[in-house]
Amino acid sequence: KQYIIIGAGILGTSAAYQLAKSGVSVTVIDREEPGRATDAAAGIICPWLSQRRNKAWYALAKSGAAYYTSLIEQLKEDGETETGYRQVGAISVQKDAGKLEKMKERAITRRLDAPEIGVIEKLTSTDTSALFPPLLNDFESVYISGAARVNGRALRQALVNAAEKHGALFVKGSAELEYEDSIVTGVRLEKEFYPADCVLVTAGAWASELLKPLGIHLEVSGQKAQIVHLQLSDEVTEEWPVVIPPNDQYILAFDDGKVIVGATHEDGMEFDGRVTAGGLHEVLDKALAVAPGLVDSEFIETRVGFRPITPNFLPIIGEVPNVKGMLLANGLGASGLTVGPFLGEQLAKLVLGQQVEIDLDLYPVSGAIRQD
Ligand code: FAD
Repeated sequence: KQYIIIGAGILGTSAAYQLAKSGVSVTVIDREEPGRATDAAAGIICPWLSQRRNKAWYALAKSGAAYYTSLIEQLKEDGETETGYRQVGAISVQKDAGKLEKMKERAITRRLDAPEIGVIEKLTSTDTSALFPPLLNDFESVYISGAARVNGRALRQALVNAAEKHGALFVKGSAELEYEDSIVTGVRLEKEFYPADCVLVTAGAWASELLKPLGIHLEVSGQKAQIVHLQLSDEVTEEWPVVIPPNDQYILAFDDGKVIVGATHEDGMEFDGRVTAGGLHEVLDKALAVAPGLVDSEFIETRVGFRPITPNFLPIIGEVPNVKGMLLANGLGASGLTVGPFLGEQLAKLVLGQQVEIDLDLYPVSGAIRQD
């Protein structure tokens, strides 16, 4: 059997890796969009403190976070160790003691069926700033040891390398679907036709344009995000935890003094790749208010990415109603680095006819299709 994947973000590369490992023939086509969400992502893997109440989302995010242990191990076996993944823990910082107490209780309840949360501890302001020195020094926090950070670009590349080792073929170009009646027969890349038994569409924020010729209106849009990379000198940052401040932003450190702050949530700005004065101002203003110690860091770059979102902000996976020969997964939104590797693995299982570990009825593609 021949499988083709359109879109090599975190979702497509994870599916490709698992398909290639299972021994089937897989070709991945990607046109390297500069706004690829996976390349811009911050890299926080910490779904358990979220106040989002949607159970379908939480189930996926929880499984996604837990899956990392297995994925990193699998990649290591394939010789891929450069993923930027590290379980550094997270601190949710607050000045409101009551809110911290509630957060701690919620984490303890969630740990009952998510032991990977690890240690949950309330930290004093002194201990909090010792863990992340640039922070304001009057924040207290809840620390959880199971949280991690990952470099989206590095992880994606590791998945590509490992998939190639197992025989996957990666082709650069802009794909279009080929179909007869409502059966997808393969993919067209400029003048070349690639036949397929099944095409997997993991095209992120750009997926709706692919389906348009089939008369399908997929309601996936690209929410613009601007995110800033800073460089601290003379700081040993690799063990610093992820910081979740009381505002809607986050701060996280990587190795060698690199710190990432962000990000904006800009609706209605689809595929506008500009770094704007307003975007930079918002991100830096919020970051410096929480971590004034970053004021002297060097500005390195701003990345712009488009989070693929569905109308109800839930991922979707499965067949498109009334279309054969194609499976689709999308809608990873703001938590796609957490969910993507796991959902990609589930997508591979689905196309291979294997038992999946998620309730597919919770994430139907039909939920994001507009009927005219
Ligand atoms: P993408 O990574 O966007 O990949 C889609 C791919 O499809 C692209 O490579 C594109 O070139 C290709 N493509 C599209 N159409 C075609 C076509 N016709 N032909 C060929 N190729 C095509 N998640 C977390 O869990 N934690 C975080 O801390 C986090 N931070 C984030 C910060 C920012 C600034 C952003 C933007 C996102 C963040 N996310 C985070 C979310 C996460 O990055 C996304 O949900 C996830 O990367 C989406 O992956 P994807 O594979 O669906 O899409």
